[in-house]
Amino acid sequence: MTSPSPSVPSPIVACPRHPAVETALTCGRCETPICPQCMVHSPGGIRCPDCAQMKRLPMYTMGFSHIARAVAGGVAVALPLGFLGALILPPTGRSSFFMLFFALFMGTGAGTLVAEAITRASGGKRGPVMIGVAVAALIAAWGVRVVLSGASWEVAVRDLVGFAIVGFGIAAASNRLR
Ligand SMILES: [Zn+2]
Ligand SMILES: [Zn+2]
Repeated sequence: MTSPSPSVPSPIVACPRHPAVETALTCGRCETPICPQCMVHSPGGIRCPDCAQMKRLPMYTMGFSHIARAVAGGVAVALPLGFLGALILPPTGRSSFFMLFFALFMGTGAGTLVAEAITRASGGKRGPVMIGVAVAALIAAWGVRVVLSGASWEVAVRDLVGFAIVGFGIAAASNRLR
């Protein structure tokens, strides 16, 4: 593809999207005329809205195989996390300020790990579906923690620390997968 030499400026034409606006700017990718109202800045230069969309969409478009791999990645990390939770912070039904503070760190760490695993397993997918997978994985980790610790469900449902870990985990994971 030959680009026009700098000595020959682009002709001034009406923007196809805004016929009232004259412009000499063109999309760096498809060379459609664009004006300051519709141009989109990208790392590679200015783009028309269509080309900017094309560049942005792939991480939000996904097939069943991406979702299946994301679920596998999330579960692979959630199970050991649940095991770790049962080991170092089993549900007791009591919660101190210190434990809730600790839950902030554990939850944020767990959410970050789950999000990272999902991103890698799915090949960099993001968006509401991936956040849903992360939420499911963190709830699964909570279940594993309860079962492995041998705590009764009556204790588990009163365990504020557990809910705090899951809550902070969901916040951290959705922040990364947004
Ligand atoms: Zn374009
Ligand atoms: Zn325009």
